[in-house]
Amino acid sequence: MRKAIIYKFGGASVKNAQAIKNLSIILFNRLQAPMVIVVSAIGKTTNALEEIVEKRWKNEDYHEPLLTLRQTHLAICRDLFPQEDLIHGAIHNVFLNLQRELEPSIDKDNYDEMYDRLIGYGELLSSKIIQAYLCHEKLYCIWQDARELILTDQSFRAARVLWEDTNLAIQRQLLPKMKQLPIVTQGFVGASKSGKRTTLGREGSDFSAAIFASCLDAREVTIWKDVPGVLNADPKLFHDALLFDELDYKEAAEMTYYGASVIHPRTIKPLANKEIPLRVRSFVDQDLKGTLIHHIEGFHNHTPIYTVKKGQLLVTLEVTDFTFINQQQLLEVYQSLHRLGLRTNLLQTSAISISISMDDDRIKRERFLEEMSLHFKIRYNEGLQLVTVKHYREEAKAQFEAWGEIILEQWTRSTMQLVIKAK
Ligand code: ASP
Ligand code: MG
Repeated sequence: MRKAIIYKFGGASVKNAQAIKNLSIILFNRLQAPMVIVVSAIGKTTNALEEIVEKRWKNEDYHEPLLTLRQTHLAICRDLFPQEDLIHGAIHNVFLNLQRELEPSIDKDNYDEMYDRLIGYGELLSSKIIQAYLCHEKLYCIWQDARELILTDQSFRAARVLWEDTNLAIQRQLLPKMKQLPIVTQGFVGASKSGKRTTLGREGSDFSAAIFASCLDAREVTIWKDVPGVLNADPKLFHDALLFDELDYKEAAEMTYYGASVIHPRTIKPLANKEIPLRVRSFVDQDLKGTLIHHIEGFHNHTPIYTVKKGQLLVTLEVTDFTFINQQQLLEVYQSLHRLGLRTNLLQTSAISISISMDDDRIKRERFLEEMSLHFKIRYNEGLQLVTVKHYREEAKAQFEAWGEIILEQWTRSTMQLVIKAK
């Protein structure tokens, strides 16, 4: 058998009936076996489901957002399929199941588990609609439940992949089907070995595509996006953003680490390990070649790369007695961050203080500050932006002074980071 091709379509690329028709046009000349098509939930469905789950958790009325979500999906079906098509009933049934699963009393200690049980409905819906539509267009393909294949531990909302089990499941259950027809499946979702539903974390569908690629030793992965490829900056924030024709895995991985949202951070590693090329290209303008991320011997990039992370919390921990910051204190800080699963994006120490810029999480933040207050005097700022410039030029800082007050900066030979408080 030839090596498989993996395509991934994100929420924006399937956001309405028109977009799903566009997807079928993209596949018209490209559909082949073996191939796996990984899809995200339609448009902003995951956000809507998050709202429903949270309301259910707080015992608030969730019927209105649920109704809206149902109507949106059924309207898409009406636009895509004739009235007598079976899909209308099938989607209706998925919503009945969701409704049913929202009803029983909930275990107040396990929000993350409940979240993972329900949030994957978005991908279930989109994958059913897309597979049915492709078949309707005579682009025959098979629907596959990804939860039978992507096996994980039970770290709900950020599950870790059990690679051996996943690999085995893919070889046994998916490979034989792939010989016959292309597969349509869901990104983002998995299951534990005992059958509990899990997810790989928000925007995790890219990672799903990489998992399939790695286990199948795929020829190439393509992520279809609403941007022309990987740019050196977010074009919404920088009008002169440049497109890369190609990037080395390492450079691409670092970009995602600093916050480039074009690819999910966990995507690159499994691909790099097997030297599977990743192409990021536009679903809007299919003539563009996009960006190829692969192994490039002696890759040297000098183009500056800008990433901006919003919603940062900057915490400064100051010693209260007359000691200086030492390893023991750093260890305590890191242990607490690790225990709480908080992610630091920048850490700076001085003689008497430690400053940390991190992704804000209101619930975990409280716990962290509480733990730290045992050892330190605490100051913090919220709602900040963290700008990272790789391969910066000397004059780079000046342009950010217009963004607000720069309250912390850190420079290495290759990278400049600024924490900015908007004006
Ligand atoms: N639908 C999920 C999300 O919006 C996963 C994804 O799109 O990759 O986070
Ligand atoms: Mg998405």
